[in-house]
Amino acid sequence: MHDDRALIEARLKRVLDERVRPAVYPAHVPLDVAVWHAPGEPVPVAEGLAAEHSPVRVGDRWGAPWGTSWFRVTGTVPPQWAGRTVEALLDLGFDENMPGFQCEGLVYRPDGSPVKGLNPRNQWVRIGSPVTGGERVELHVEAASNPVILDYHPFLPTELGDRDTAGDEPQYRLARMDLAVFDETVWHLVMDLEVLGELMPELPADGARRHTVLRAVARALDAIDLQDVNGTADAARACLREVLSSPAEPTAHRISAVGHAHIDSAWLWPLRETVRKVARTTANMTALLEDEPDFVYAMSQAQQYAWIKEHRPEVYARVKKAVAEGRFVPAGGMWVESDTNMPGSEAMARQFVHGKRFFLDEFGVENEEAWLPDTFGFAAGLPQIIKAAGAKWLLTQKISWSRTNVFPHHTFHWEGIDGTRIFTHFPPVDTYNCSMQGKEIAHAARNFKDKGVARHSLAPTGWGDGGGGTTREMVAKAARMRDLEGSARVEWETPAVFFAKAEAEYRHAPVWVGELYLELHRATLTSQARTKQGNRRSEHLLYEAELWAATAAVRTGSRYPYEELDRLWKTVLLHQFHDILPGSSIAWVHREAEATYARVARELRGIVDAAQRALAGDAGSGGTVVFNAAPHARGGVPAAGAAPRPAVHGATTVSDRVGGGHVLDNGLLRVEVDARGLVVSAYDIAAGRETIAPGRAGNLLQLHPDFPNMWDAWDVDAFYRDTVTDLTEAEAVEPVAGADGCVRVVRRFGSSRVEQRLTLPAGAGRLEIDTEVDWHETEKFLKLAFPLDVHADRYASETQFGHLYRPTHTNTSWDAARFEACNHRFLHVGEPGWGIALVTDSTYGHDVARTVREEDRGTTTTVRASFLRAPRFPDPRTDQGTHRFRHTLVPGARVVDAVREGYRVNLPERVVPGDARVAPLVAVDDAAVVVTAVKLADDASGDVVVRLYESLGGRARARLRAGFEVGEVVRCDLLERPLGAPESAVADDEVPLLLRPFELVTLRLTRRRAAD
Ligand SMILES: [Zn+2]
Repeated sequence: MHDDRALIEARLKRVLDERVRPAVYPAHVPLDVAVWHAPGEPVPVAEGLAAEHSPVRVGDRWGAPWGTSWFRVTGTVPPQWAGRTVEALLDLGFDENMPGFQCEGLVYRPDGSPVKGLNPRNQWVRIGSPVTGGERVELHVEAASNPVILDYHPFLPTELGDRDTAGDEPQYRLARMDLAVFDETVWHLVMDLEVLGELMPELPADGARRHTVLRAVARALDAIDLQDVNGTADAARACLREVLSSPAEPTAHRISAVGHAHIDSAWLWPLRETVRKVARTTANMTALLEDEPDFVYAMSQAQQYAWIKEHRPEVYARVKKAVAEGRFVPAGGMWVESDTNMPGSEAMARQFVHGKRFFLDEFGVENEEAWLPDTFGFAAGLPQIIKAAGAKWLLTQKISWSRTNVFPHHTFHWEGIDGTRIFTHFPPVDTYNCSMQGKEIAHAARNFKDKGVARHSLAPTGWGDGGGGTTREMVAKAARMRDLEGSARVEWETPAVFFAKAEAEYRHAPVWVGELYLELHRATLTSQARTKQGNRRSEHLLYEAELWAATAAVRTGSRYPYEELDRLWKTVLLHQFHDILPGSSIAWVHREAEATYARVARELRGIVDAAQRALAGDAGSGGTVVFNAAPHARGGVPAAGAAPRPAVHGATTVSDRVGGGHVLDNGLLRVEVDARGLVVSAYDIAAGRETIAPGRAGNLLQLHPDFPNMWDAWDVDAFYRDTVTDLTEAEAVEPVAGADGCVRVVRRFGSSRVEQRLTLPAGAGRLEIDTEVDWHETEKFLKLAFPLDVHADRYASETQFGHLYRPTHTNTSWDAARFEACNHRFLHVGEPGWGIALVTDSTYGHDVARTVREEDRGTTTTVRASFLRAPRFPDPRTDQGTHRFRHTLVPGARVVDAVREGYRVNLPERVVPGDARVAPLVAVDDAAVVVTAVKLADDASGDVVVRLYESLGGRARARLRAGFEVGEVVRCDLLERPLGAPESAVADDEVPLLLRPFELVTLRLTRRRAAD
């Protein structure tokens, strides 16, 4: 037989495009349209409905960037349409090739109740089925003219990303406002032909199935009268019935389709727009659930539910009803889909606490999966946190974006730093916006790396980010692929049903140990430095506020600010969203984030201040009390306690250096700063050991060109390292008077200026580096380098509830691809018995590399902290202006010292007038065991909740001593729910603790009422 595949496939495409799809709406009449352009920010619905509208015509331009236009569409259903299905077709000027990322609308009835969203692939509103004819139609559309930021020429700098700079040029042209007859038979024919047309190219060309389908399609096309598609659609469908009912092979891959819309909580639009995006998409999805009995929808991010609850209560009522029916699934159990590299221990824990608690309180639902399809890599501390929150599964898709190495599994156990394992799935469909196309389904089946031993995968299905979610077309196509020869089987299922099946069939899934590093978007550890600093500062202020407020509540009976802390935590958690904290949002988002962090800091300082004043005793005594929030004692003040300031002993001498520069010496460290302002020596006097590699210099600022191939704010490409300028020219290198030896260094480069203070405090073995940069570069990367005389094949960097080791070499492609990584407060490199810590108050990105010197065959391990970048997309002025960073170099530090120094730098002591000593509410007698939270229980019972962890990666036997009269002590999960019976060994307000390496423990301590 002659091979006519190409001919029939081309015929199918043309007939579908030009005849069958247009016949879905065989008759239409225009609607009358009037509009009111709201003058500024979005207005309440009632105001939009009641405003003075003016006539507008299809074809007219509308919509200044970020504006809101209220369209009123009116008309009458023609009497001759009686008995037919009629829909309104409202095209605001959509680009169908780009679902999401453009204009959108929410349709309301005249009474203000929401109907559904309008999106590029979802432009219809059902008027009646069947209609009687003559019905009066009135609909209102709240249309948002969000400008396109990421378009066909991505990553070009644009001023559209902030209302202040976006101008007022209309962005859209009203394309269609019609009433139309909907022919459901033709629509089904389109679905049949699309499913089969998309299946064919995925089938082997020499297999019988492909040709059987081809022949059936050819017969169906023959059966269509091109002049009367509507009259012949049934006959065409009859030709396809047999190939559509031929069942799937017994070994066919099984796909759990989960209706979904990945809505970034802020990104190329401000937070306030996400509130509306979520409402539109959710209105669509609750409507689709009512129309489609098999469909299941999952939505993550408790914050987005909270927004609907507050701003669109009618939509929220529909959500609650659908959740109760079990078909609208609160997924993920986190407050937002956060970044997981940068959030600190407590914040990562609170993402789950607040997410899960919201779902429990609102819906009585406790989900057991973490849902993070799009987050840019996963920290090795996360498995333990997921488990401690009472969850056991993780879903993400993002690692498929890695550019160098292909991850070997799609389903596996992910093991974190403490040994906790989480059953994890990467959807092999390789997208979180599956649209049920044949090529996606076939790709998932082919791509699945665990076939032969497992057969289930998950496909998050629907358009995100304002695309409107899952469409009725996706549901129709999924129904056809439920049991279809040549296709994977597709079934709508909840994430929990999927995970239960996947886990049951794959008990011995492979194990991946350590972080899930994304080999892309490495620059998100550095871009938008002020946002990152706001996060770090807020996390530590929250810790302080809880600690001192709890101490004051227990000791003085003062009010514990439950509501304030709840609200402030949620604000900080929201800003850890995976496009805010990573610095990949438009200027508007980061401008607001900085203002929000400033407000958060003010409020938290107020809480801290009030609590400390309540504790500090007589403010008129003339004395001062030093509060030490850190979980380690310092300067004679106990951890989490306060005491009058003790005297400081010793001083640092500053002398001239031979050859220029200055020498700082405090008897512990001797630091030489040369005439260039560089640290050419940092000598650990007790150990008799030099820190800086011979002939090299630390405190070296290095400037690289930084113009990645794409994703400017997200990416730094490996070639950035090929070109570097060492900033060695100094304008000033001069000593600063004071007991702590200090040298001030000033440099200028490009259009920027940097001023540093290098301080060697009296009595302390550390060099403090305070850097202020007035940054006016573009597309540059600034790093601070320390070439260290250390032979180390790995280094430690802090992550949540512990640290992980990464190699300093590039043996494998995996090691080489990890050229920029995340640390929290510290990095540590060492040889047995001696090491060095680099501690930071606000930077996360870093790199560590090694070279071997020819002269002495010694190893130079160069540690570099990433300071600033200057990408121009999506914020054309990223990071311009003044920034301040504090780093501390600690020669001779062990990991335990690095941990302590990390807290010290991030939790500065506070001095308050008074005369009291404040004993800690809880104290632990083992330096390896670190307290990360002391607070009153969220249930307002007055119980004290303490979270602590083993910080060194070893076993710890410690005693926790409470500074109040303890009743019972019980281990809890992160949500403060008891995990078992109370500890039996509580005596004298002490409880013994035995901790696994890096184990996190949450304790709830009841207070004996007699002590109140
Ligand atoms: Zn995302």
